[in-house]
Parts: sequence; structure tokens; C-alpha cells
Amino acid sequence: MSKVSKRADAITDSVTLALNAKATQLKAKGEKVYNFTAGQLPFKPPTDFIEAIRGESHFLKSFQYSPASGSKKLKQKTLDDFKSRRNLNSQSIENWDVLVSNGAKHSLSTIMGTIIDPGDKVMLLGPYWLSYPHMVKGWGGEIVEVLSEISDGFAPSIEKIGQVFESQKIKAIVVNSPNNPSGVCYSDSWMKELATLLKRFPETWILSDEIYSELYYYDPAPSQVYQFAPELLERTLCFDGISKSLASTGLRIGFTLGPKEVLSKAGKIQAHFSSGPNSMIQYALEEWDWSQKKDFLISINDHLRKNTQVLKEILYEHALGKLWYQTQGAFYFLLDFSKTAKYEALKTSDDEDLALRMTEELLLKERIAVVPTGDFGLKNAARLSMVVEEETLREGLPKLLQYLKS
Ligand code: PLP
Repeated sequence: MSKVSKRADAITDSVTLALNAKATQLKAKGEKVYNFTAGQLPFKPPTDFIEAIRGESHFLKSFQYSPASGSKKLKQKTLDDFKSRRNLNSQSIENWDVLVSNGAKHSLSTIMGTIIDPGDKVMLLGPYWLSYPHMVKGWGGEIVEVLSEISDGFAPSIEKIGQVFESQKIKAIVVNSPNNPSGVCYSDSWMKELATLLKRFPETWILSDEIYSELYYYDPAPSQVYQFAPELLERTLCFDGISKSLASTGLRIGFTLGPKEVLSKAGKIQAHFSSGPNSMIQYALEEWDWSQKKDFLISINDHLRKNTQVLKEILYEHALGKLWYQTQGAFYFLLDFSKTAKYEALKTSDDEDLALRMTEELLLKERIAVVPTGDFGLKNAARLSMVVEEETLREGLPKLLQYLKS
């Protein structure tokens, strides 16, 4: 029998998808399921943006190939928007360009392919988004993890990061703030210390995944590492897109912003591997007034803030205040199972990862779907999506906590 590649064989099934499928199956049978797994906003994008897409549907060019690295006008608009949102002067990014791809996931994997040689080490700060390891390994790289837990506020220690940098050559570091899965925005002082550290390692690329940068519910806006040391910009690549900020995961538009030379190489990979992204959406983004994004996001961020306040309230009502930590952005919260009676009752050895077993039990017995975070670099925890209706949270969370306390 013909065999598939070792690369393809090494990719494990997505636990999230499997759980989601099970939850959907139960729902289809008419059962009430509290689903906390969503990685997308349950809202439609702004009406004027939808109208802009409709408008572009009248033109032939919307149905034809766009330039392989994306439309020129959209690139400029993206760069201008980025510059003003990050408060950067034109000089500091005068050599920058944009690559428009089929979603930020595609942006990240294309850039990994552009900078990683087999055996290169890429540092991931845990908890991290579960797709990064697959991308790194897919291009022949190795991951080096620096993990954190609730007692660190889910921000890995700069000292530990420094120790790893001292002991091995790190080709790239991925920084994701606001963070999936923790919902944490790394603090200014943390970013400043990281910037100071990275200045000492000029051969390391900085991959700044800012896909959630507009989803934050406490001012000020989350900061990024290069804002504390603009000299890092010459080896930084920033990732953004419309999936989260425009509630448009299905339209597949992602942006990489970074130095021209590296983006022109990445553009060649993109040209041969996938071509330019969706033409109609790119042209609609050119035409639509981006200043409307702010208003669109106000009610969403208010909803997220309210839900995290409700969550805190319910945790304290159940005497589980020790599971609380402050989130500021993205739309997730991590529930630490290791600090619960249920975990103590089930465990047979220290440090055993029971999250998968516990989340399966939660779905089958309590009809609650949450995502176990083993693949995100965090044992004995589950990710809760905060995009749900407040009512779902008020009904589902007490059941979940009751299970953890039993
Ligand atoms: N980065 C992070 C941290 C994410 O959570 C996601 C999606 O969930 C992405 C990137 C990719 O977003 P998309 O490919 O939908 O633009």
C-alpha cells in the first residue's frame, strides 16, 4: 500500500474539532449543550463592510486572481492603519511592506517557511496557540517551550526565557498578546524586559501574533515588544487579519507586516503554494471605511468584559476564587483543573494530565463542552470561550464548577 509522508502522519487530530463534533451531534439529537469551545465571534461583520463586498461582486476583477502577494492599495491601507494604531513613526518602518494571505494562519505558516531551516529552534511561550508547533515542525524546525501557569498570571518568566537564549541558538520567538488561550495581555513591563533581552540576540526573528490586538476590554490597548525598542523592527514580523476584529473567520484574509526583503521571499512561496487571497474581499477592504471598526468593536468588547466579570462572580460564589486571574483581551479564560477537588480525587500520580478525561466527562455527563489545553502547552486546564451569551455562562458555569468540586 502507498504510504503518506511522515510529516502528514505526525499531525494529530484536533481535540477541539473532535469535541465540537460530539457537541454538535448531541445538539442535533435535541439535547441542551453548553458550548464553550468557540474560537470565533457569533456576530455578523459591520453592515457597511457587507455592503462593500456586495458592491465588489459587480466587477469581473473580483472573480479573478489578485496580485500573488495581495492588492497594492490594501497593503498600503493596512500599513497606515498599523502605524497609527501602534503609534510608530514612518521612519521606523520605512522599509516595511505587507503580505496579504488567506488568513493569519496562512500568514504565519508562510513566514515560518520563509525563515525556518531544518533543525532551527523556535521558542513558544506557553500557553500558546496549538497550531504553532505544527507549523514549526512542518517546516522541519524544533520547538523550544517556555511555559507559565496561573501563578505567573500566564506570562512566562523573562528570566527563564533568558536562560534558554543563553544556552541555545533561537531562530525565532513567537509572542502572542492578547493571548490565545489565556486571554492575557502581557504587561508593559514584561514587554519592556523582553525587548531588552531580545536586543542582545540580534539573530533571532520576532514573530508578533497580534490577531486579537483590537479585542481588549480594559484600557490601554495592549502593547507590543518592538514599541519598547524600535531597533527590533528590522527583524520583527507582525501578524493580523480580519478573522477576529471583523468577525470574519470565513472570509480568509490575513496580513503579515514586516521588512520588505523577507516579505518578498515569503511572497514567492505564497505565489507558488497558494496564489493571492480572495480578490473580492480584498477590494471590499480597500473601499470600506476602517474607522467604523472602532464602533463595531465597542459592544463586542463590552460583552467580553461583562462576561469575565460574571465569571469572576460565579467563581467566588462557589468558593473557587483561587481559579480567578485577570484577563484583558482575546476571548478566552483558562480554568485550572489542578486546583480542584475533582482532580485530586481522580489523579493517581503528581502532574498527571487529566484534562482530556475531565473534559470528555464534562461533555458526556454534564453536557458542557470546553477545550482541554494539553496541546496549548498547559496541562490540567481547559479553555473557556467568553463569546457566549451571558445566560449560557450563568447556567453552564455553575454546573461546570459543581463537577469540579465533586
Ligand atoms: N493566531 C492566533 C493566536 C489565533 O487564535 C488564530 C485563530 O484562531 C490565528 C492566529 C489565525 O487566524 P485566521 O487564520 O483565522 O486569520
